[in-house]
Amino acid sequence: MRQQGVKMKKNPFAARLEQFRESVISRGLDAALVSSPANVRALTGVECDSATLLLSPAKTIFYTDFRYVPAVERLAPYLEIGDILKFRSKRSLSVKGCRFEKIGFESSISCAAFERFRKVFPKAEFVDVEGEISSARAVKTPEEIEIIRKAAALNDEAWRIAQSKFAPGMSERDMARIIKHTMLDLGDGEAFETIVCIGENAAECHHIPDDTKWDGKKNILVDMGIKYRGYASDMTRNIFGSRMSKLYKKVYGLVLEANMRAIEAAKPGMTAKSLDKVARDFLEVNGFGKAFGHSLGHGVGLEVHENPTISHRANTRLEPGMIITIEPGVYLSGNLGVRIEDLVLITENGCEVLSSSAK
Ligand code: ZN
Ligand code: ZN
Repeated sequence: MRQQGVKMKKNPFAARLEQFRESVISRGLDAALVSSPANVRALTGVECDSATLLLSPAKTIFYTDFRYVPAVERLAPYLEIGDILKFRSKRSLSVKGCRFEKIGFESSISCAAFERFRKVFPKAEFVDVEGEISSARAVKTPEEIEIIRKAAALNDEAWRIAQSKFAPGMSERDMARIIKHTMLDLGDGEAFETIVCIGENAAECHHIPDDTKWDGKKNILVDMGIKYRGYASDMTRNIFGSRMSKLYKKVYGLVLEANMRAIEAAKPGMTAKSLDKVARDFLEVNGFGKAFGHSLGHGVGLEVHENPTISHRANTRLEPGMIITIEPGVYLSGNLGVRIEDLVLITENGCEVLSSSAK
C-alpha cells in the first residue's frame, strides 16, 4: 500500500489520501471509488468536476478527461492517471489482481452516478465510506488552515466595508447585495447565500433576505461567509438598532456569554457534544434552552457545512487542526433572534478564534 511512499509524505493531500486508503483497507474493502468534487479535491488537491478516484491495494488511479490531466500531473504527480472514458468495465481498468467484491463508495453521490458504478462492477457489494472521507477532511492541513485563516480575515474586512454602507431605508436584499459584491471584490464571492434579517425576521434562523426595510431602529442579524481559493468562511454578527428592547439586550448578553464560554472550553480531546453542552447548559439555566434549537456549530472547509458536527449527539473528539464554528443562538418567534458565530481553529491546547470582527 505504501509504494508511493516518500513523495507522498511531502504532499499534505497525499497524507490525507493515505489515511483514507488505510481506513478502507482496515474495513476489509477491495477498493473505493471517490467522485464528488469536494472529496476528490480534499484527497488530491485537484479541483475537478469530472473525476473518479479508484483506490485499490495496488494503486490509486485518478480517472479524468484530458482537460484536467495537466492539473493532476502538477498537483498529484504520484498518482496514475486514467482516461475516464475507459471507466466502463472491470476489464478496462488497469488494476490487476483486485477482486472488486467489496467496494467503498460515497453515499452522497447521485443515483445516476451510483448506477454507472454498478454497471462497471455488477457483482460487487457497495459499502458507504463517506464517514471515513469526512473524518479525513475534518482535520485541515497547514496549507488549508492558512487559506481559511485568510478567508476569515477577508470575511471580517467584507463585514467592515459592507456595514459601513448600510443606511435606513435599505431592504434586507439591498444589504445582502452589498455584502455579496464586497465579497466578490475581496475574494471569490459568497460561500453560501448571505442571510440578512431585520428585527423579528431574525427569529427564523435561516430567513431568506426579502424586501423588509430597515428603519434604523430595529436590530439586524447578518450571517455571511466568503469563498476564498475554494474554501469557505462563516460568521454571524448583529447590528444594534436605535431602539433595543430590554429583552433583546438580555438575550444578546446571554448568547454572547454562551459563545465566549464555548470558546474558552474548546480544546482537543473533548467530544463535540460536551462542547455543545457548555453553551446549551448555560442558555438552559438562564431560561432560553428551548429557544436554542440548532447545534452549536459545524466544521468548515471546502464546504461551509462539513464534519465535525458540534451537536448534543456528536461523539467526535476534537483534534488539533479542526476548524469549526461556535454559533449559539436564541430565537423567539415573532419577536427577536440573536446568533453570534465565530470561526475557530482547534489547537494543541485550546482554540484560536479566526473571526475578529467586534461582537
Ligand atoms: Zn453562518
Ligand atoms: Zn455556521
